[in-house]
Amino acid sequence: MKKFYDYIIVGSGASGGALSYYLSRTGAKVLMLEAGKRYSSESFSSNEMHANANLMWGGGTEMNTNADQIFLRGKVVGGGTVINQCLLDRFDDVAYEDWRTQSNIKFHKLDMMNRHYDEVESHLSLYNMQKEDWNGNAELYAKGFDNLGFEWSPLRRGQANCNNDNDCIVCLGGCARKSKQSTLETFIPMAESNGMTLVSEFEVAEVIHGESFVTVQGNCKGQPTTYYGAKCILASGAIGTTKLLLKSQLQNKLPALGENFHCHPQWMSIAFFDDIIDSHKGYFQTLKSSDPRFRDWGFKLENVFAGPIAIALLKQGYGHDHQQFMQRYRNMACIEVAVRDQAAGKITLNNSGKVIIKKPLSDGDQQRANHGNRIVKDMFNSLGAYETMTSPMRIGLHLMGGCTIGENELTSVVNENFQVHGMKNLFIADSSTFPNAPGINPMLTILAMAHRASESILAESGQRTTQPNIATKEVVA
Ligand SMILES: Cc1cc2nc3c(=O)[nH]c(=O)nc-3n(C[C@H](O)[C@H](O)[C@H](O)COP(=O)(O)OP(=O)(O)OC[C@H]3O[C@@H](n4cnc5c(N)ncnc54)[C@H](O)[C@@H]3O)c2cc1C
Repeated sequence: MKKFYDYIIVGSGASGGALSYYLSRTGAKVLMLEAGKRYSSESFSSNEMHANANLMWGGGTEMNTNADQIFLRGKVVGGGTVINQCLLDRFDDVAYEDWRTQSNIKFHKLDMMNRHYDEVESHLSLYNMQKEDWNGNAELYAKGFDNLGFEWSPLRRGQANCNNDNDCIVCLGGCARKSKQSTLETFIPMAESNGMTLVSEFEVAEVIHGESFVTVQGNCKGQPTTYYGAKCILASGAIGTTKLLLKSQLQNKLPALGENFHCHPQWMSIAFFDDIIDSHKGYFQTLKSSDPRFRDWGFKLENVFAGPIAIALLKQGYGHDHQQFMQRYRNMACIEVAVRDQAAGKITLNNSGKVIIKKPLSDGDQQRANHGNRIVKDMFNSLGAYETMTSPMRIGLHLMGGCTIGENELTSVVNENFQVHGMKNLFIADSSTFPNAPGINPMLTILAMAHRASESILAESGQRTTQPNIATKEVVA
């Protein structure tokens, strides 16, 4: 005998977290399965090396086939929202128009999405960065923009009680202050108080769609385990959800599965100054480029920094040169260029079930990167930097696509109700549904889309779960 749930959600990140709240508040029986471990503000490690190894898939070493692009994705209760910066922006008309052109989905319009943004924001503590929050790196960023005549503006972050001496350097390995608005601190506890069940360290290996329920098979701490759900919603992120559907042998039924993968490739440029900058102190990120020219050019710039291990990885080589580089950690300033990538990648599996990601850089994307990096160099030169280095390593933090939403079954994987084509009980609500790269931080839109998806899923269920405390049913395994 196995437990049967109204809804099984696979993944507990931005999308899974929000969904778990919106589905469980109807009184439905909701089960959330998460491959990563559950940590709390007290148990996160403050050691950067342990944080990377414990909280990310592959310890933060997943790469594309050319090994020139790294992908970071969370494997922990709260997913990417635990290890991210929680910079929260709404998409603009440009992003939605480009989505609608590709997807033909009517609600890909800012004025139709605003009520979903309003809803999810009502559960978040949001903070606009102030001048008193700037560290030395932010001061240089603003001055550099002013020198070159570009507009900048403050970033907005999801945080409750950071203060001026907040330590982003630790927070990226999990917030010890219960301040960062990860789903671990926001939607998941709300869902749990509605009765949602969360099973961590459960990696789902396969989903089997049926006409009346979905079978979800996986492995919990070495134990093969099966659950059944009237509906199953995949929220495992762009790579995780695509991998799961590929492992479930659905590629023949879904010709677009694995296509359209995007990642906003980022380059970090380090500049060295004679003065101490201490970019590692206080807020890492406070300012963004708001100049409309950057939107036209297809990239964005933010001030950024990272812990010593991540900074060390930006420079090639080893030995004395590398040591000299790191000895100047306190003299470094840093700006990132994130490109709105137009060339789509592709996710497949090899014969042993390992994810293979083809993500080449097209000439156009390379030109956008070169343009952005040249502006950063000009900025640092105008500020008196004595040396500037752009890391050759591309970093992918915003992983999107692979199971895109759209009208056409040949070019997309889910329909406008977030339902997998031809499978009425299987849904996808995460960043894998993004049709192309928006060029804007995605987390807030993932939360908002999850809210919209919850409405579609509840409507598909005939709202039968609006009564609280429906009894758990039992079915024969
Ligand atoms: C370092 C970093 C900084 C970032 N900064 C920002 C930022 O400031 N602003 C912003 O908007 N975005 C930021 N992002 C991106 C943002 O965090 C992601 O876009 C977002 O979390 C994706 O949401 P998701 O629900 O699609 O997937 P995720 O949040 O990745 O959640 C997916 C979850 O599913 C789990 N999972 C996967 N496969 C399985 C399986 N088979 N079985 C069970 N569980 C599974 C994973 O372990 C994970 O917990 C950042 C990302 C990183 C890595």
